Formats: sequence, structure tokens, C-alpha cells
Amino acid sequence: MGPTIWRPLLVTVLLLFLLDLFYGSVVKQAAERGAEISYSRFREELDAGNVKDVTLRGFYLRGNFRQPVKLPAAAADKKGGANDTTSFNTYIPSLGDSTLMADLAARKVEVTALPADGSSGMNILLYLLPWLLIIGVWWFVMKGMKAQGPSSLMGGFARSGAKTYSSEHPHVTFSDVAGLNEAKQELREVVEYLKDPKKFQMIGGKVPKGILLVGPPGTGKTLLARAVAGEAGVAFLSISASQFIEMFVGVGASRVRDLFANARKSVPSIIFIDELDAVGRSRGAGFGGGHDEREQTLNQLLSEMDGFDPHEEVVVMAATNRPDVLDPALLRPGRFDRNVVIERPDWRDREQILKVHTRKVPLAADVDLAVIAKGTPGMTGADLEGLVNEAAILAARDNVQVVTGDHLERAKDKILMGGERHMVISFEEKRLTAYHEAGHALVARLLPSTDPVHKVTIIPRGRALGVTQQLPEDDRYHYPRSYLVNRLCVILGGRAAEKLIFNDVSTGAQNDLKTVTELAEKMVCQWGMSEKIGAMTFSRGEEHPFLGMKLAEEKTFSEEMAWMIDQEIAALIRNAEQRTLELVSTNKTKLDALAEALLEEETLDGQRVDEVLATASEAARM
Ligand code: ADP
Ligand code: MG
Ligand code: ZN
Repeated sequence: MGPTIWRPLLVTVLLLFLLDLFYGSVVKQAAERGAEISYSRFREELDAGNVKDVTLRGFYLRGNFRQPVKLPAAAADKKGGANDTTSFNTYIPSLGDSTLMADLAARKVEVTALPADGSSGMNILLYLLPWLLIIGVWWFVMKGMKAQGPSSLMGGFARSGAKTYSSEHPHVTFSDVAGLNEAKQELREVVEYLKDPKKFQMIGGKVPKGILLVGPPGTGKTLLARAVAGEAGVAFLSISASQFIEMFVGVGASRVRDLFANARKSVPSIIFIDELDAVGRSRGAGFGGGHDEREQTLNQLLSEMDGFDPHEEVVVMAATNRPDVLDPALLRPGRFDRNVVIERPDWRDREQILKVHTRKVPLAADVDLAVIAKGTPGMTGADLEGLVNEAAILAARDNVQVVTGDHLERAKDKILMGGERHMVISFEEKRLTAYHEAGHALVARLLPSTDPVHKVTIIPRGRALGVTQQLPEDDRYHYPRSYLVNRLCVILGGRAAEKLIFNDVSTGAQNDLKTVTELAEKMVCQWGMSEKIGAMTFSRGEEHPFLGMKLAEEKTFSEEMAWMIDQEIAALIRNAEQRTLELVSTNKTKLDALAEALLEEETLDGQRVDEVLATASEAARM
């Protein structure tokens, strides 16, 4: 926030402080006027001839006794002092005391009368002070508004936040961004333009205005935008769109205005709006509060983008992982009309990313980044950065100077399977887990075209009591039906083993069942893998491409079809279950061997699994 917000605050606090002092002194003065006594008491003392003088102001009466008077404790407490008092004050009953003046005169009391409304300077101030305060605050607000345009309420609150003003000049370049070659290629043109806008236009380049980076979280959108600024050596003004939306209506729009005004001041420059979907959702599709505010902000954004002069060398970049919800108006020509799609990295890119992030980390000679890259399918740049970090922490904990392959492997396990948990587990439960995981691993090893078993463990991790980790040999983009059918069996393997050994099933397989159901649903509804239904797709079970969450279901098929889909999904799962159960029972010796090895060693890697299985089949042959 700028200094503007502090000034009124400071002044207000100061005024309050002064006010406090002021009231303090008034109250103190009042206390000096003596103890408050009842009117009857005053009358008693007057009749006794003990009143020396009085001062009257309206109904208020104060004065002094001739002799100090002992007061009951309560009355004395009020004035907060001694019990003896010579000065006092009281109020004359509003009904009046017709004989008071005569009695005062009779007792020879000195009487002073003051105007009833009190014209002392103090009293006037007391009346005016609250008004002065209100006017003062209002004046400061007005002053702030004049400086920032009419809709900016409360001075600095409306500014788009400190980040905008520290228009950063990033030092990251394309060399810090691993992979993403196509994206970099597309953005190189933007860099050329920002470096020398005149030359770029002279050779007839189409001036870039709005570029939308689309991709899953953590894939390097922000990094890439900063790298464009770094490559071109221009100012980078960034804000997260969620920062536009505050509780004050109109703040978002004024922040947008402010952001663009600042970008224009430091041309050539890049404005980067992160999480564009926070303001950019289709208008009229919002829900509940803050909706108008968002629309206002979006409208302001659109009009700012339209209002660019061709000579204003400002490029607007934005990032989102929800391009599907963006208002179409944002994607019109002259606005965000260039899309740069960023995908999750494949293993070659992952290796490059690991290389970038291990530049400053001393690696042991045994580390092969390609192996780590192949073992981390689906991980994004941010995940890999976290992995390297985690490995470095593990190395530091081991008190060694270099990060070894083992550190990286342990870091990877932690990220993929959750941290190890230390909990007390009964032997029975351990045995159950061992057979469950052995079931998964066995089926995975027995069925063809499944992903190799990388690791099996019965050490509790994350929320699971045990984990069987399979890793594909390479990134896969297409999955044949046979692979998926076998995959169903592998997932059901744990439950099948439990059934076979304990003749019972446990709740531990709940997650497996959920996975199986979802997979079968997709096979039938999206990939046309059911023969009865054929090559059709249905919205059922559809997921958001990046977020992996289910989209609202919109039924576009008949009840009969819905019934058939249910039947097909159930049949797929039932067949897989049957097959798995047969497979596990015919290989019970192997299952026992794996479970025993797990109980003993707790964690088996892929190689050890193969060894155990080989020994078991030899024993069976003899
Ligand atoms: P996004 O904006 O897409 O959510 P970020 O750009 O914030 O992702 O990426 C988070 C971090 O992950 C970056 O700071 C960077 O360290 C790392 N990262 C992501 N992608 C890459 C990449 N391609 N090369 C190097 N580092 C990357
Ligand atoms: Mg980001
Ligand atoms: Zn399981």
C-alpha cells in the first residue's frame, strides 16, 4: 500500500489520542469540583449553616463547605479520594426549590451564577470536536480520491496492491524454463516485439496484445511469463486476478484501471494476470455474492484492453487452468487472441527440469536424472522442484554434502505415496495389509502388459496402511483395452487376496473400489470399450481435463441407455473380479511368499518382488 492509506489513519489515531487527553482533563477538573452529594444532604448542610459559597449553572450547583464533611464511602468513591471533603456538587431538582435563594441569602452564602449553557471555551470545543473529527477524516478521504479517481474508496485500499508498483524486472530467462519448446517458440515473437517495437512493426509483424497461457497448475505458466519479460528486459507487472476482487464494490475495476495506468507509464511492459478465471468466468454464469463486482472488474479489463493505443507497447499475458469457463468476450480478436497451451512435461522434459533445479545442488556421481525423470510420470515442474528440495533436506538430515540417488528416491516416494507415518499397528492388521498389497503386486506381475511393480510397502504412508507402486516404463498417452482390463484386475488384487486368505473383505479396499468404478465408468462411457454399447461417448463420468474433477452431469441419453451403461460397468468389474480371484487362488504359494517377505522386510522393490516370486515357484516345482 502507498503512504496515502497511512496518513488518514495516523491522523485519526492522533485525534483520538488528543480527544482522550482532553476528556481526561475535563473529567479531572470535574473531580476537583468536589464530591457529588445528594440534594437533601446539601440542604442539611445548608440548614446547619455549613455552606460557605455556591456556584450555580442551570440546575448544576457546586460549592464549598465551611467545615470538612464526612461522606458515606460510596459518595466518596465517586470522586475517588478521601472521605473528608470541603467542596461538593449536586443538582437542583428540576421541579425547583422555591425557598433555595431565600435560604442561601439567610445563611449568608456567597452565590455566583453562570449562564446555563456554559459558554466556556472548553464547552464549545467539546461540542465541536466530534464534528471536527468527522470533517477531518472526510477531507482526507476526498484528498485521496482526487489523487486516484472518483471510484477509489478509502484512499489506498483501492490500489492494486504493492506488487503492481514494484514493477519488477525479472532476471529469469528462457534458459531457466526447461522443455516447453513450442511455447517458447511462440513467445519468442513477443520478446522480439518488446525488445524493439518499431523494428518489429516495420518488418510487418502482427503486434501481440493478449496472450493466454493455458495449462495445469505448476507447469510453469508464471515462470514462462516472467521469462518473457526477462528475455526482453521489460517491466513485469503482475497480479493475481483473485486480488482484484475485494469486499468493496468497485475496487476491482479501479485496480484494473490502476494496473493499466502503471503499465502505460513504464512501456514497454508486460501485464501478467494470474488465475484469469477468477474474474474472467462467463458473465451471467456466476453464483451468489460478489458477482456484480466480478462483472464490473471484467468489463473494466475488457475496456482497458480495447483502449490500447497501437503505440502503447504493453503486452497483456494471463494464465489459467480453466480455459473452458472463460467469458468468450475475453478471447475475441484484440484481446486474448493467442493461446499458448502448456502440457505436463514428458520424461525428457522432466529430465531437463530436474537439471535446471539441480544446478545449485551438489549431486552424487550415482545420480541418474533420467531414471528419476522416468519414474515420475505426471509430475509437473513445481512437483519436481519440490522433489529436489525434499531430497536436499533429506541429505542435510543425513549430514552429507551431496544428494544421492537414494535421497531422490525417498523424496519421490514421499511425494507420490505420502510421508511415512509412525503408528502402532497390531500384527493381525499388518498381516491383512501384507496380503492386500501382495495381492496387488502378484496380479501386476502375473498379468501381461501391466505397469512394472516399482515398490511394495506395508509402512503406513499418507492415509494408506500400505502402498503398491507401479510405474510405467514410459509416459503413456494411449491405453489399449487389454491394458485397462488388466489394470482393473490389479486394483482388485488386494481385495481378492483378502477374500482368499481371510475369507472376508475389509474396509481397507474402499479406495480400490472407487478407482475401479471410475475406471470402468470411463471405459464404457468415454472410450467406447463396451461391445454392447459400442463406439459412443456419454457425458457420464467426464472429468475436467486439468483439474481431474467431475463436471456437472448433463444427461443426454435415454433411461434405457443409462440402464445398459450400468449393466456394462457392473459386468466389466464382475468379470475382472472373477478373473482376479482365480488368478490369486491358483498362485496362492506365491501370494504367501510375497506376504511373508513383506511382513519381514516391510518394503520390497521391484527386483526383490521378482526374487521372491522366483524362489516361490522353484519351491513349488520341487
Ligand atoms: P504455474 O504458474 O503454471 O502454476 P509456476 O510457473 O508457478 O507454475 O511454476 C512453479 C515452479 O515450478 C516454478 O517456480 C519453477 O521453479 C518450477 N517449474 C515449473 N515448470 C518449470 C519448467 N518448465 N522449468 C523449470 N522449472 C519449472
Ligand atoms: Mg502460476
Ligand atoms: Zn489396495
